[in-house]
Amino acid sequence: MNPTPVIAIHGGAGTILRSALTADAEAQYHAALQAILQAGQRILADGGSALDAVTEAVRLLEDCPLFNAGHGAVFTSAGTHELDASMMDGVTLEAGAICCVTRVKNPVLAARRVLEASEHVLFTGAGAEAFAAAQGLEFVDPSYFHTDARYQQWLNARGSQGTMLDHDAASLDGPIDPDKKFGTVGAVACDARGHVAAATSTGGMTNKQPGRVGDAPLIGAGCYANDATCAVSTTGTGEMFMRMLAAYDVSARMEYRGASLEEAAREVVMERLPRIEGRGGLIAVDAQGNVTLPFNTEGMYRGFARVGETPVTAIYR
Ligand code: ASP
Repeated sequence: MNPTPVIAIHGGAGTILRSALTADAEAQYHAALQAILQAGQRILADGGSALDAVTEAVRLLEDCPLFNAGHGAVFTSAGTHELDASMMDGVTLEAGAICCVTRVKNPVLAARRVLEASEHVLFTGAGAEAFAAAQGLEFVDPSYFHTDARYQQWLNARGSQGTMLDHDAASLDGPIDPDKKFGTVGAVACDARGHVAAATSTGGMTNKQPGRVGDAPLIGAGCYANDATCAVSTTGTGEMFMRMLAAYDVSARMEYRGASLEEAAREVVMERLPRIEGRGGLIAVDAQGNVTLPFNTEGMYRGFARVGETPVTAIYR
C-alpha cells in the first residue's frame, strides 16, 4: 500500500527556553514553519517527488531570516559568512553537497545541481561557486547574508571567544551562552510512491573559524536518505554528529538490526550522541511514512505535515 506522503522540517535545535522567547517571536517561528510545511505539502499532494519537496522546503527556510541558513546565516570569526548544504535521494542513493560558499543565494539549489548534473558529490569554496555559476544559479553580494540579529550574536560570541550554536540563546537579541548555539535547517519527505529524500543547509556555528566545515554538507553525518531505510537531516554540534556519522547511523540501525525508525533515531540522539556530549536533534521519515523528530536539547524548531492534514509545529520539549 502506498504511504500518505509526509514532509518534516527543522530550523535548528538548542537551548530555546519558553521564558526567553517572546510571544511575538514564538508566533513568527510557528508561522514560518507552517507556511513552509504547507508549501512542501502542496508539492507532495500534486504528486511531486520527495526530492522536490525537500528542495523547496529548504530553499524557503534559507530565504527566511529567522533561521541560520541562506539569508539568516551566522558570522564566522572573520565577520564573513560561509554556507554549507547537502541533499540525498533515497531512490538512487545519489547525493550532492557544497561547502564554504559565500555568494550562492540558495546553497540547497547548488547541492541539488551537484546531485543531478555532476558525477561528484561534494564541491568546496571557489570550485563550488564556479560549479554553481556554470549551472546558472543566482549569486548575491555577501552583504545579502548580513542580518542585524546574527551580527549582534556574533559580537556577543566574539566577546566570549567561543563558537556557538545558533538557537541556544532563547531570544535572538538576548545574551548568548557560548555553549549553547545551534541553527541549521533541514527537510525530509516521503512521497506517494514511497520514495524518501533529505536536505540540510546551514551557516554553521557563530564565530566558527573560516574554512571550518560541520556535519551539514557531509553525507552520512548531517544528511542521509535510502528508500530501504529512512531519510534523515540533523542539527546540533556538528563535530559530534560527524564523529558519530549520526544520519547514517539511524539508517544502519534499521538496516542491520531491524530497528524501527523511532527506535533507531532515539538511540542515536538520546544515547549515542550524549556519550560524546553531542547536542542537538534530527528529523527522519521512512518509506512507510513514519516520522520522528527527537532532540536532546531544550528545544528544536520543527514540524511535520501529512498530505490532507493540518501541519503540526513545535518548539519546546
Ligand atoms: N550542525 C551545524 C554545524 O555544525 C550547526 C547547527 O546545526 O546549528 O555546522
